Amino acid sequence: MPDNLFRLPGVDCRHFCRGRCLLAEHRNPGLNPENACRVIDRLGRRFDDFLERADNLSLSEEQASRLWEARFPAILAREGDCRDYLPDDTNSFPDCRHAADTLCLLAFPRCAGRCSHFARPDSATERDKDGSAS
Ligand code: SF4
Ligand code: SF4
Repeated sequence: MPDNLFRLPGVDCRHFCRGRCLLAEHRNPGLNPENACRVIDRLGRRFDDFLERADNLSLSEEQASRLWEARFPAILAREGDCRDYLPDDTNSFPDCRHAADTLCLLAFPRCAGRCSHFARPDSATERDKDGSAS
């Protein structure tokens, strides 16, 4: 009989997010670029490039802001494509069903039920207790 038949669901775990386990990200936030939403990541890079160029051209904040707004639709058309995108019904960008803040949930393993790393949202982490992450 499969092992996970005996496991309680992990939905109450602090690392659980819509069926996925975010433990690795919570242990090392931002460390693995593969965990980031590719669309947000690419747009962030384009924005950084743009800021650098605007700085080199000594544009004022207002000029840079107007220029970015004017260019954004074309940049979005070029960089906003994702083969895994699934439309959601939110007001947040990229309004994708797989997005959780700036992360892509598809990058994370499915939670197969409560494991030894299960922790309630309000419980002290092992980092709190002994200096290591939970
Ligand atoms: S599936 Fe959604 S969250 Fe994941 S990279 Fe694509 S747009 Fe971003
Ligand atoms: S119960 Fe275990 S596998 Fe499931 S989300 Fe929590 S830490 Fe991850």
